Amino acid sequence: MRLRHIRGAEEAIETSPFVIQNPKEHRGHFCDLFGNTNPIQIEVGMGKGKFIMELAQKHPETNFIGIERYSSVLLRALQKREELEIPNIYFMCVDAKELGEIFAPGEVEKIYLNFSDPWPKDRHAKRRLTSPDFMKVYDQVLAKDGRVEFKTDNQDLFTYSLEAIPEAGWTIEAFTRDLHHSDMAEGNVMTEYETKFSAMGNPICKLIASR
Ligand code: SAM
Repeated sequence: MRLRHIRGAEEAIETSPFVIQNPKEHRGHFCDLFGNTNPIQIEVGMGKGKFIMELAQKHPETNFIGIERYSSVLLRALQKREELEIPNIYFMCVDAKELGEIFAPGEVEKIYLNFSDPWPKDRHAKRRLTSPDFMKVYDQVLAKDGRVEFKTDNQDLFTYSLEAIPEAGWTIEAFTRDLHHSDMAEGNVMTEYETKFSAMGNPICKLIASR
């Protein structure tokens, strides 16, 4: 998802109390921002943030951070965020490749990857958020029993991920190629893309990985 440049997006983000400014300064003590020691879960590439905001409302006992690299996209999430009274969620405007410099080892309990950009050309495989390079980054920040949960409707990206994730030393704990008709559907929170693509009849794939 790449929206056109929106005038004022950077300024709105830089002045928003819901966006973590200079995230690297909070490394190792993100809990202080939330004022508690609840576990922290993050969504990488949250887009307009529907999924993570709904999750935060459903799970007040967990802290959430939504990560999106484009300010024009994050602005959409912020606009929605401003209408809600939820104390357990912040956003960051950063690229996922920086996560290891932002979070201390073990600081993140769970990473959600939802409908990540497929980057279908082989020469762009390293940009896929389930590539071994990105799995290495997640390994740096995840807690001991941490999990990566990945959903997509893109069969090729899913097949790639089922191979690339174990190659990176991880274990696929569970997976399905038809989430909405599987026993993994319980408690499922739909993302914006999931709503759109499942309405078109596309089955939704999901995997859970640990190491
Ligand atoms: N997760 C949302 C959903 O399921 O509705 C949005 C999916 S959208 C296709 C993917 C989003 O991931 C885009 O907004 C894109 O900017 C963001 N993204 C892609 N690569 C990223 C990266 N390396 N770091 C942070 N965000 C990224």
